[in-house]
Amino acid sequence: MTEQQIHNREVLRKIFELIFRPLDALLTPGKLILCADSRMRQCYPVICAWMADYFENIHLHSIKQPHCPVSEALKSSFGEGNSSSWQLRDYRLYFQKMILATQGDETERREARQSLEDRAVGTSEGVFWNMKCISPMTIILPDILHTVYLGMHKHLMHWVTSFLEQHSRINKFNQLWAMMPPYPGFARFNKPYSQVTHWSGTEMKALGRVIVPVFAATLLNPSASQRFSFTEALLCVKNLVYSHLRAQYRYHTEATIECMENYLEEFHHHKDVFSRFRASKSTKQVLEALKKQLTLEKQEERESDPAWNILSADAKHRCIDEDETQIDSEIAQHLVDESDFNFVKMHLLDHFSDHICQLGNLWNVSSELPEKAMMDLTQAYWQSNHHEAALQILRTKAPKEVFQYRELNANAAKQRHDDDMPLTKAPIKWMMKNPRPELKTLDDLAAWCAMPKWELQNHIVWCFKRFADFTDYIDHDQNFSCLNNAKHIPYKAVAIPVTSIHCDEQAVHMVCCTGSTRWRKHKPPRNDTVLLWMGTSPDSHFKSNAGGIPAQLKCLFIVKDAELSVNGLLSLVQTFATGPVRQTACMVIDEERHQPPMQPLHDGSYCRKPLVGVGTPDIVPISAIEGAVHLLPLTPQPDSSWWYLSNTINLNAFNLFYM
Ligand SMILES: [Zn+2]
Repeated sequence: MTEQQIHNREVLRKIFELIFRPLDALLTPGKLILCADSRMRQCYPVICAWMADYFENIHLHSIKQPHCPVSEALKSSFGEGNSSSWQLRDYRLYFQKMILATQGDETERREARQSLEDRAVGTSEGVFWNMKCISPMTIILPDILHTVYLGMHKHLMHWVTSFLEQHSRINKFNQLWAMMPPYPGFARFNKPYSQVTHWSGTEMKALGRVIVPVFAATLLNPSASQRFSFTEALLCVKNLVYSHLRAQYRYHTEATIECMENYLEEFHHHKDVFSRFRASKSTKQVLEALKKQLTLEKQEERESDPAWNILSADAKHRCIDEDETQIDSEIAQHLVDESDFNFVKMHLLDHFSDHICQLGNLWNVSSELPEKAMMDLTQAYWQSNHHEAALQILRTKAPKEVFQYRELNANAAKQRHDDDMPLTKAPIKWMMKNPRPELKTLDDLAAWCAMPKWELQNHIVWCFKRFADFTDYIDHDQNFSCLNNAKHIPYKAVAIPVTSIHCDEQAVHMVCCTGSTRWRKHKPPRNDTVLLWMGTSPDSHFKSNAGGIPAQLKCLFIVKDAELSVNGLLSLVQTFATGPVRQTACMVIDEERHQPPMQPLHDGSYCRKPLVGVGTPDIVPISAIEGAVHLLPLTPQPDSSWWYLSNTINLNAFNLFYM
């Protein structure tokens, strides 16, 4: 380390000491502090966590690169998983050793220096080493943003794309990538994967939610020789993704933590399929040279054999091919032998479960929040005239935040007045958005849905009866024909309240249905897929979806009958059937099924009960829609009728389908 670096680190330490040292003095007596709920409490300040990326952490805690700031694990063990056997770092002990290393007698100094050296501790004092007001166990947090999204996901995608190139499937992957449907909170990727040059943390997060089904669809129908490596690759990706999804739970039990650890262990178990892509640049160069040398040697060997010249052209080609295959497999073996997974982000994953045990969950300790705050600062900088920018940044940022706090406080106060139970939010209601007022009658609606009027009418009345909203509505012919006079207004979108199983809050899934018209000015039509719950016991076909039935929206509309005061929010849907093939343990394949059209009865009338069920058009109340569902095509053909039901798209789906 240069003198300048040591000096910089000392400056950093002094600044932190200046800021935090006063807290040490409060640690025993405590201080009365006014809390957010207007009560005074005796508080004892403890810095329990410091959010930072790996490099900031090793600077703050004075650890040498590339070692772990949490434990004393050796670099050679980073790729093995299971860090529980390693001693956790004891920064207070390091501080004592450092004093000995400078003030003790000759033997003590030598021993202390050696001991610090062995533990990969730097030569200067760490920022928090000598502070009383910190919680040493939790001060270094696992950071999902840098460890997983920008760390492991980047590595993983390098392995995945190299693997697909090796097996000539990268084009299929790119096509499927570009065909990914949208989902609430998930902006689809507009470009094929290979054309994207820079990935942000947010995009890497989104990528983690869809990589498993896209990769699985890309690897469908392997040849006999590919089968083993394809399965291994898929299991490796799946287990890493599942483990990081588990890590994001808001509530944990021993079982969820154990499950997360098991996924991680399985990931380590299968990762060797990608080990050849872990070779360093220098190894690759050496092996490139070795390959040339081996090829030359083989050529000389062949040509020096007297039998070579009498061989036919075909036989010669066969010989050359055989030699090439042999060289390739030798090089591949070398690549595997020379590669390892000993990089620090791989190891940091092992500390996640300990931190969950200490903190309860990792929800609020991702550096996504400070990074977001950084973006605001950067934005304020660009809005300034760049001359003595600090003050201008403060002037831009501070009022903005003050207004945000005011708004939060005002809303909270309002809620306290409104409700007897403070802080309980009113449940969100289903809400239709963007009507098409130009369409009003049943005929208009039938034309819009491209469905015979009688069939549509049957479906509507059957829906009213089945879902018990207006039971007697269809039992009289008069009421049935009343439907002709009712207003039928289609809508473009509907807001579906979705209860998260991870917190008490309700989220909103905005699902869209534009029929054959454009969704936005330059966007193609959009008819989202949803999950229906029909209010009956789980259908045997849909056990894997816990009774939910995936369906595509065909039309969203309202039926208003002023005479009978009927006001129904309905949706025409096309349900999917679960396919018989279950390619991977993690996803269900769905197939769209068409049903033969209904025939009129001998007297010319139609049976009022339409044929509804799995794989047919159906009309359901909006309240039967549980939320959006993400269906990915299995093949890149535009008319693909096979889809994967993706369960990694959000934590709710992850639980819904496989718990
Ligand atoms: Zn460690």
